Amino acid sequence: MKPNKYKQSHSTEREFGGALGATCIPVFLPLTVLYLLSVCRSPAASVLQWPPPLTPAAQLWDPLAVVLVAGWITLQSFLYLLPVGKVSEGLVLRDGSRLKYPINGFHSLCITVALLLLCLGLGMPLGYLFELVLPLAVCAIALSYLLSMYLYIRSFWAPKYALSLGGNTGNPLYDFFMGRELNPRIGDFDLKYFCELRPGLLGWVVINLGMLMKEVELRGSPSLAMLLVNGFQLLYVTDALWNEEAVLTTMDIVHDGFGFMLAFGDLAWVPLTYGLQAMFLVVHPQPLSTLGAAGIILLNGIGYYIFRRSNSQKNQFRRDPTHKSVTHLETIATATGKRLLVSGWWGFVRHPNYLGDLLMALAWSLPCGMSHILPYFYVIYFTILLIHREARDEKQCRAKYGLAWDTYCKRVPYRIIPYIY
Ligand code: NDP
Repeated sequence: MKPNKYKQSHSTEREFGGALGATCIPVFLPLTVLYLLSVCRSPAASVLQWPPPLTPAAQLWDPLAVVLVAGWITLQSFLYLLPVGKVSEGLVLRDGSRLKYPINGFHSLCITVALLLLCLGLGMPLGYLFELVLPLAVCAIALSYLLSMYLYIRSFWAPKYALSLGGNTGNPLYDFFMGRELNPRIGDFDLKYFCELRPGLLGWVVINLGMLMKEVELRGSPSLAMLLVNGFQLLYVTDALWNEEAVLTTMDIVHDGFGFMLAFGDLAWVPLTYGLQAMFLVVHPQPLSTLGAAGIILLNGIGYYIFRRSNSQKNQFRRDPTHKSVTHLETIATATGKRLLVSGWWGFVRHPNYLGDLLMALAWSLPCGMSHILPYFYVIYFTILLIHREARDEKQCRAKYGLAWDTYCKRVPYRIIPYIY
């Protein structure tokens, strides 16, 4: 028998400010990327500067950027298709089937790093990425628009059960933004899963390395602050790819359709704004004492520990609740048959993984000193994102688990930060 949800074809709820939000965000966010990159490279790097130090239109275009983006997507697609690593199944879909996904992101990272080292060995001027970053942003934005248009059009040929519940309201702008189809694929190639962790996350690491090489060109060696930013963010990306399988149970894969929101986020927003700190350091070098660096490394370590342990605990519990590492934890039953953890990390706050992520975000900005707000963009934006994401997740959990969720909230009253939020 098909589950009930199979009959449900759409949700009437509107997120991200509804049609108005879905119309404004695709214009506003790409402009924000170009603005942030322009300000970051300016001598003052001040978000209060008026008129803003916008880059002249002629400098936004470079055919080399098109070649690099096309080559990059081709390389990552080829690595995605390599028959290495295991194949995992996603969660059960509304038609009762399960899709198969290659778990070879970490292999892609290793091969990409090896290729980068080879390029450096051959004398490729990776520091030139600093000059090219705005044209690269323009290409990445254009690519996310083209991809979202393709996704929107092809979704009209998808069977009803393959559509997402949230992106099928009939309002073209809203549906274009939220994404109509849940798991668009070309043959076995899953477009959403590919974009989620490959071109953007790895692109972020490469751009960071480019900034480090630019610093070497300008000042002879990388600064301590630059090494920390590069090291922390490389750890984050490596962790995401090492634990790639966990992405199969995230909201993005399970719940959200593939539209402009995810395409732009994955292909343009992540690689170009998450590494602003490294770009900032190229133009605005910051002294960092050994003691300061030790404190920041400790903060990143604590954040990473909380982030990794809490994510792993929940993933393990969801995959196999009888595993010895989770059997000692207290749980409560829900009407769906699934149980909720109320002790361990998930008894500390309702989203311990977000807390760890935020501590790391702060550690990534601190090496840039306190003189500018711009390198703190990521931690500010990320706090807003995670508060919003937490509210979306709570809503979905309340709808899924009803009274059991309310009991959980009473047992664990704080959402992200104990005694504060
Ligand atoms: P989460 O990993 O937080 O998963 C939320 C789900 O976990 C809920 O929907 C529920 O699903 C389950 N759950 C919640 N509470 C409990 C409980 N007490 N016991 C058992 N299961 C529970 O989802 P996200 O995808 O938001 O986050 C994953 C990671 O990715 C986080 O570390 C986050 O910080 C990070 N992230 C990073 C981003 C970035 O840009 N850097 C962006 C977004 C996320 P169910 O019950 O159905 O299993």
